Amino acid sequence: MKVLVAIKRVIDYNVKIRVKSDGSGVETQNVKFSMNPFDEIAVEEAVRLKEAGKAAEVVVVSVGPAACSETLRTALAMGADRGVLVQSDDEVQPLAVAKVLKALAAKEAPGLIILGKQAIDDDSNQTGQMLAALLGQPQGTFASKLEIGADAVTVTREVDGGLETVSLKLPAVVTTDLRLNEPRYASLPNIMKAKKKPIDTVSPADLGVDVSPRLVTLKVEEPPKRSAGIKVADVAALVDKLKNEAKVI
Ligand code: AMP
Repeated sequence: MKVLVAIKRVIDYNVKIRVKSDGSGVETQNVKFSMNPFDEIAVEEAVRLKEAGKAAEVVVVSVGPAACSETLRTALAMGADRGVLVQSDDEVQPLAVAKVLKALAAKEAPGLIILGKQAIDDDSNQTGQMLAALLGQPQGTFASKLEIGADAVTVTREVDGGLETVSLKLPAVVTTDLRLNEPRYASLPNIMKAKKKPIDTVSPADLGVDVSPRLVTLKVEEPPKRSAGIKVADVAALVDKLKNEAKVI
């Protein structure tokens, strides 16, 4: 079985995000980018399936500018076999990414497609669900455990207040939650080996997909600044302030 994994290049989670002065978006110049953390978990799971003999090949795909090939190399160094860069310098929104992945799935015929549950830059949590709908395949979202059977995959899902276990007939789409696994760090020898692994570059047009945006961002704002705190002399003063000023008790 072939496993296709979608990985997005996002601003690194450690970076303090700065909003552009005209409110049109966030600053991306001179900012560190890395693989979306949920997608690292997706790559790790696919590589573990390969190591367990349950997957024959792991193909990673990223949609975005040429720099996404660095993110693909990271996934190759973690153990994926080959990469596909669907190059676009324009913004590609979740519906368009889902259409691109659908077109690639038609070419590659993967038994399983793994995505992150959400990209930490747009927090959309849409691509996996839309892809499953476009493909007419079952979906197991927010997976915290995954077991491959002969013609089905059992997915344990994190839901409010507990876990739900579902069985999906393959081929299927799975999105990863935080507790599915702990992604490995690529070793130096594997980073070197990854340089020789193939990455194909195609355009959305090559795949017959129109990626023009369906949404227009009207405004991006910083969260309101927190005002400075104060020190109170004792518990009585604290209770008084909570009661009479904040009016929360
Ligand atoms: P989102 O729906 O934007 O929150 O993204 C959910 C998941 O879809 C991500 O964790 C990725 O696995 C995948 N994805 C979204 N955008 C891209 C992209 N540009 N390239 C590759 N995968 C993507």
